[in-house]
Amino acid sequence: MPEFVRRLRERIAAAAARSGRTAESVTLLAVAKAQPAQLIRAAAAEGVRDFGESYLDEALEKLALLQDLPLTWHFIGRLQANKTRPVAERFAWVHGIDRLRIAQRLSAQRPFHAPALNVCIQVNLAAEAAKGGVSPADLPALARQLAALPRLKLRGLMCIPPQESDPVRQRQWFAQLRRLQEALNAGGADLDTLSMGMSGDFESAILEGATVVRIGTALFGPRGQEPDSDP
Ligand SMILES: *Cc1c(COP(=O)(O)O)cnc(C)c1O
Repeated sequence: MPEFVRRLRERIAAAAARSGRTAESVTLLAVAKAQPAQLIRAAAAEGVRDFGESYLDEALEKLALLQDLPLTWHFIGRLQANKTRPVAERFAWVHGIDRLRIAQRLSAQRPFHAPALNVCIQVNLAAEAAKGGVSPADLPALARQLAALPRLKLRGLMCIPPQESDPVRQRQWFAQLRRLQEALNAGGADLDTLSMGMSGDFESAILEGATVVRIGTALFGPRGQEPDSDP
């Protein structure tokens, strides 16, 4: 396990160097869905601090088991309106916001003593029916609405582009997300986070400016059974 973290960090650092950035400018978000709490503990012992979960019930169980560790939890799954409260209470980040209604609930339910909840808007770049995310056309309006919610901090954009094996094509999707963020910032937004890149394409994402890479299998190996009722 330690070896895995080290090797992955080396790949991240090499890609960052190729894009003229420091390794520290890219956050490794370790995606621990369908992985046991002991594996999170082992990664934390190697200095990994940010962990991503997609399935709420499973996540809450693991958060309880790992309360003693100073970890930052990111919710990266699809969020149903009736399940926002535990996310608003227990997580520091939500990647994958694509509806105002969910954002309004998270803002209303964020405890007053906690810092604002960091959120990223998910953009569905290829208009894939099976994936969440707003269309690029609807992005500016949603970004404006989210920026007005008092207990959320809109940090940036997130995407899960079509799987491509060709790095050139991978980079085209990530470049699109970067340009959408640049356009929002040119219009007065103050976004600093591009959550893009997974096990199969994170190097391409870093070359296009990713600040957070969400990596599961390339770090932890194959996942166990994933629940299909809570996708
Ligand atoms: C599962 C998941 C990941 C990690 O996928 P890997 O291919 O295992 O790295 C990243 N982001 C999201 C939103 C996921 O659901």
